Formats: sequence, C-alpha cells, structure tokens
Amino acid sequence: MAISEHLLETIREAVGPGGWIDDESGMEPYLVEPRGLWRGTCAMIVRPDSTEAVAAVVRLCAQAGVAVVPQGGNTGLVGGGVPDGGIVLSTARLNRIRAVDAANHTMTVEAGCILADVQDAARAANALFPLSLGAEGSCQIGGNLATNAGGVAVLRYGNARDLVLGLEVVLPDGRIWNGLRGLRKDNTGYDLKHLFIGSEGTLGIITAIVLKLFPPPRASETVLAAMADVESVLALFMRARDEFGDALSAFEMISRIALEFTVRHIPDAADPLESAHAYYALIELTSPRAGDNLRDSVEAVLAAALEDGVIEDAVIAESQSQSESLWRIREFIPEAQKSEGGSVKHDISVPVSKVPEFIHCASEAVAAMLPGTRVVAFGHVGDGNIHFNISQPVGADTDAFLARWDEFNRIVFDITFEMGGSFSAEHGIGKLKRKHFVHYKSAVEVDLMRRLKKALDPDDILNPGKLV
Ligand SMILES: Cc1cc2nc3c(=O)[nH]c(=O)nc-3n(C[C@H](O)[C@H](O)[C@H](O)COP(=O)(O)OP(=O)(O)OC[C@H]3O[C@@H](n4cnc5c(N)ncnc54)[C@H](O)[C@@H]3O)c2cc1C
Repeated sequence: MAISEHLLETIREAVGPGGWIDDESGMEPYLVEPRGLWRGTCAMIVRPDSTEAVAAVVRLCAQAGVAVVPQGGNTGLVGGGVPDGGIVLSTARLNRIRAVDAANHTMTVEAGCILADVQDAARAANALFPLSLGAEGSCQIGGNLATNAGGVAVLRYGNARDLVLGLEVVLPDGRIWNGLRGLRKDNTGYDLKHLFIGSEGTLGIITAIVLKLFPPPRASETVLAAMADVESVLALFMRARDEFGDALSAFEMISRIALEFTVRHIPDAADPLESAHAYYALIELTSPRAGDNLRDSVEAVLAAALEDGVIEDAVIAESQSQSESLWRIREFIPEAQKSEGGSVKHDISVPVSKVPEFIHCASEAVAAMLPGTRVVAFGHVGDGNIHFNISQPVGADTDAFLARWDEFNRIVFDITFEMGGSFSAEHGIGKLKRKHFVHYKSAVEVDLMRRLKKALDPDDILNPGKLV
C-alpha cells in the first residue's frame, strides 16, 4: 500500500530530529539480513527514542493501515525483521538501563540495549545476566525476547523467556501496556508477557523489560571428554546432571567430523587429544562460591566414567586460555563447515532421551537419499537441541546439492516430528520457516495462534507476513 507523504511527515514530527532515516544508503542495512537471503523494501526507517514516541508512531500507522516492522539488531536468521513495505521501526535508540534493583536481583532495561551491554551492566552490579549467544555484540535484548533466544547457557538458566519478570509493550493500536513488574509471584490471570515473548514482533513492540539477575560465577572448570558413540554422550550427560546439579552450565556435543573440519580450517585450532574418537562432550561447570572445589568432583566423575567405559579419554582445561581453546573448537564449527562446500542446516530439538535415536535415524535416512553426504551433528545436547547439518559429498556439484534442500528438510523434520521434536529449536519462524510451521504444527495450534493475532492485531499492522 502506498504511504502518503503527509503520514511520513507526521511520523517525522512525532519522533523528532534524528528519529528517522529515509535516504537509500542509510536505509540499506535495515533492508537486508545476515545471510543475504532477502532484500526488503519500506518507505522509511523510524528510530524513536522513547516508549511514548513508539506508541505515537504505531498509532499513526494503525490509523492509516500502514504496516510496522519492528527491528532490533537485525541479527535474526529467519527474515523476521525484513520489511515488505510499510515502515521499519528500529529500537536502536531505546537503549537506556532504567534501573538496577540489587535486593530484588532485577534490572529494568530498554529493548534496544545491546545484549553485551546488558551483560556488562549486570557485571557492574556484581551480578550475572546469563543470556549469551554468538551475536551478543550486536543483537538487542528486545530482539532476544521477541525470538525467545536460546544460546549457550540454556541448560542452567533457561531460554530468554525464563529470564524475564515483566514487560512494557506497545500494542498494535498504539496503546502502551505497562507490565514492568519485578515480581517472582503474581497469580492474577493470564500471564500476558509470555504472549509477546517469542511472538517475533507480530503482537506488540517490546519497549522495556524487567530481567532476572543471578550470582556471578566465581569458580569454573572446562572439560572435553571423548566417547566411542552417541549413546555414551547421553550416558555421560545423565551422570554429569546427577553429580553436578546446578553447577552444570553447558554440555555440548561435537562429532568427530565437526572437530576435524575445525582443526582443518580454523587457524590455531588443534585436536586436544592424541587419538581420534567418534564423539566429544564439551562440559562447563560453574559455581558462585569462590572456594568450591569443582576440580575434585570433575576428576572423580571422569575417573568413574573412564572405568565404566562411558568415556575413552578426557582433558580438563588447566588455564583460562586452554578453556577458550576448547570452546573455540565448538564455536567455530559453522565457520569451518563453510570451507567444505554447500551445507543444508537443521536446528532441531527432541527430548534429550531421544538424541541418540534421532542421530542414527536421520543420518541413515540422509545417507540413503544421497550417498556420500557428510552429517555434521553438534550442539546443545543437554537441551536436546542438535544442529544437524549436512555437508555435500566431497567433489559434488554444490548447486545440484543445494537444489535438494527441501528434500533434506522433509526427511530430517519428519523424523524430528515423529520423535515429538521441534523443527525450530531456536531462531523462530519469520519468513523462512512458515511452510514448515503450517505443515508440522497441529491445525488446532495454528488456529489458536491465528486467533490470538486476530484478537490483538485485527488489521495486521505489526510485522505482516511473518510467523502466522
Ligand atoms: C552469529 C549469530 C549467532 C546467533 N546465535 C543464536 C543462538 O545461539 N541462539 C538463538 O536463539 N539465536 C541466535 N541467533 C539468532 C537470534 O535470533 C538473534 O541473534 C537475536 O535473538 C535477535 O535479536 P535482534 O535484536 O538482532 O533481533 P532482529 O533480528 O532485529 O529481530 C528478530 C525478530 O524480532 C522482532 N523484534 C525485534 N525487536 C523487537 C521488539 N523490541 N519488539 C517486538 N519484536 C521485535 C523482529 O520483527 C523480528 O521478527 C544468532 C544470530 C547470529 C547472527
């Protein structure tokens, strides 16, 4: 729909000087996304610096029937922030830490705060805000909540959803809902904040958040354990969970081929063990008690696992830099995989108990479909979240391989579905996964979500064409 110059001028007046971008080169970064899969169009980028200004812009657009696409750091990987017309509303200038309440162990921040800045502000208050992910230097806390981000600390602290006590939201008609309550108990009807968390900007624009804080870690250990098969990875995880309890903050699986790719392509990455093993678990333990002797318990658990044949070998990091080298292997797998040609990626989850069965079934199925494909399985096994990435056969034609993307998706997602899993463990639906959303969600679930959208946003003003 065409947007009148009068409306654009009224929006400019509402946000004031510095509150919009309408030149081509200035708008460019807001129209593309990290993987370059889409290029959007819109009339203007609007950058309000207060909740009231966000509300004014949304009200004007709602009255004129013009779409508003919320955008945070634009690091989302499913096209959720890419506009198809209307205006983009960037939260970048809503970037104040409003309050830290040490006794309540909460922090109230605006949606446009960069995640790393939120972590720093917590640290400055001698606390931990545990959400952590690869894009933390550029993604915003509002975007993290809109996508219910996961990351590396979910096992111990939960998803973004679990880290929130209250929200302030601008609704599709421009009203402001102030739900900024820092309460750990509030049994007063529907918990509305959870409606907006994970809704990918389709139900409201999150403008501020009350976040939970935690005691900072004062002792830690990093371990890489090697195993003969994926069943042993699960067995070790169960032991670690039982023995370490809350101290277990990460348990990541790395398959042999994932480690080989990293060692081959990433400078300074090296295999930390002398011989090759089929699977590895990267384990992080932390404790808020400085004097905690995590080392003794780690050694005892590893010795017992070695004796029982659950693990074949292990290394415990002796320094911060050795710990970082071990984490480097895990973090650079996606980068290393790029050097091996085309790959089809799946970010799925199944119940933790079904991880081995999933890996066997899905690996056999894709090998039957295209012999020579290389399955690179790794990820947050403690959350049942596996990155099941398929690299092309050595020497194969990349375009011909990638042309079969949908076939691979269908095989992997069907197996995931049969095991009670999810085709999208992280990142959301956006534009990218809408067809899977309709295929794998039950008709009742899709209907309920569409009714919610209709109830809150009957004229489809907020982020049309995404998610539902
Ligand atoms: C290198 C890299 C690593 C990543 N690692 C992880 C990971 O480990 N785990 C994980 O879960 N994700 C990961 N992601 C993707 C993840 O979704 C984002 O990094 C982050 O959560 C999105 O925040 P953002 O501010 O960039 O949001 P954007 O990309 O700007 O927006 C994402 C969606 O949220 C909506 N939105 C944004 N802000 C608001 C708001 N204030 N109110 C309402 N809606 C809004 C947008 O319309 C869009 O639909 C990664 C991405 C990259 C590039």
